[in-house]
Order: sequence, then structure tokens, then C-alpha cells
Amino acid sequence: MLLLVPIYYSCTSSASTTQEEIPTSLHAAYSEFNADATTIYLDGSNVVIETTGLPNHETVYWGEGNSLYRDEPTVDLTPSIMSSNNNATTITVDATPNLTGATVATNFNTIGIAVSGASIFNDQEGGGALDAAAGSLDWTGAHIGPGVYHYHLEPKAFTNDDDSLVGVLLDGVFLYGRKCSSTTTYPTDLDTSGGHTTVTEHNTEAEYHYHIINELYSNTGSYIAFAGPYQGY
Ligand SMILES: [Zn+2]
Ligand SMILES: [Zn+2]
Repeated sequence: MLLLVPIYYSCTSSASTTQEEIPTSLHAAYSEFNADATTIYLDGSNVVIETTGLPNHETVYWGEGNSLYRDEPTVDLTPSIMSSNNNATTITVDATPNLTGATVATNFNTIGIAVSGASIFNDQEGGGALDAAAGSLDWTGAHIGPGVYHYHLEPKAFTNDDDSLVGVLLDGVFLYGRKCSSTTTYPTDLDTSGGHTTVTEHNTEAEYHYHIINELYSNTGSYIAFAGPYQGY
């Protein structure tokens, strides 16, 4: 990311609007991430998230014989199971999202890491609409393509019509469930990305965050996790 760097750097100046502050501790929300899968640490003004990509919940995609295997006879399975793929991913995000620039569209790939340790994808599948692949999504809105196991829909394994943390997206903004802890109900002031600025269960100061938008998606009977655009790049 290109920064407009002031000539002098000050830890005390509040007049600087473009200089990213160097945080001294991880945001409290990161404590909710699956510690068996993820290693999360500060690197200057960035947060690095290394993950095995292996979620701490059941799915048919673990494959028979695994302790987290779940029989899901109605799922139209893709050819891959968890143990046959390399699911590992590392992302680096801003510790303090830059909300001042233009929005950025999401791509077909990992758009964020969920608290389970697995990836979040957008509303596209191989460059097309998700509808055609919807039959292969498991009970928690995820599947394995040629790459990593990933969620497209509200991941019911850890958020189901509530205000739970879903994960963090590539722009460093946290994604929450369909409800907001600030009001305990569906927010009515969301922007096109599903974002707004309020207190959260992880911050007593208002901060910008996304929600899963409370609109059923197509033939899935569920909700798209995040379709973009990013507001925090
Ligand atoms: Zn997919
Ligand atoms: Zn909210």
C-alpha cells in the first residue's frame, strides 16, 4: 500500500491523518481465532495471520474416518476432501484499516480468514455466479474447490442469525454475523458493503466493521458471507 508519509513521524501527533499508527497489541477480536489453526502476530503496522486452513468444526469435507467427519448425504461433493489438499494460507492485513481511499472489489480467492481458521470467499465461483456450485456447499456454507476449504455463505458453525465474529477480511476490517452487538438486532444503517461504525463486543470505542447482509441469496436459503467491495484498503 502506498502511504503519504509525513516528513516527521510522531507518536503523539493527532494532526496526522494519513500516517498509520503502530499498534502495540493485537486487537481483542483476534483472541477469538482458532489457536490450533492460526498464528497471529503484529508486524509493524500490519497483522500477519498464518493458518493451516483446517477448521475446528464438522463437515463432510473432512472425509470419512476423520473425527470431525459429518455425514451430509444431500451435499453434491466436489472431488476433494480436507486431507488431500494443502489448505494453508497466510494473509497480511492493516492493523488499522485505511477507510479514506476508494473501495476495492473482491477477487475470486481468499478474501479473509474466519475465526475457525478456514478461508472466506465472496459470491463468485470460478468467475461465475455461485448458484451453479451451491449444491456442493456443506451445512456451514463451505466447500473445497481445487484450492482451500472456504465459506461462501453465513458459516452456521460459528454464526447463525447472531452477532458473533466471523473473521477478518483482507482490508483488515472485521466481519460479524447478521446482528450487531450494539443493538442486538439487524443493523439498518449498513453501507453497500454491509459496513457501519458502532461499538462492538470487542471494542468499547466505535469502529468500522462489516456484517453479513441479512438478505437471502438466490437458491441457497442462506446469506452471502461478504460480496464486497472492501472499504478498508
Ligand atoms: Zn467456492
Ligand atoms: Zn455492527
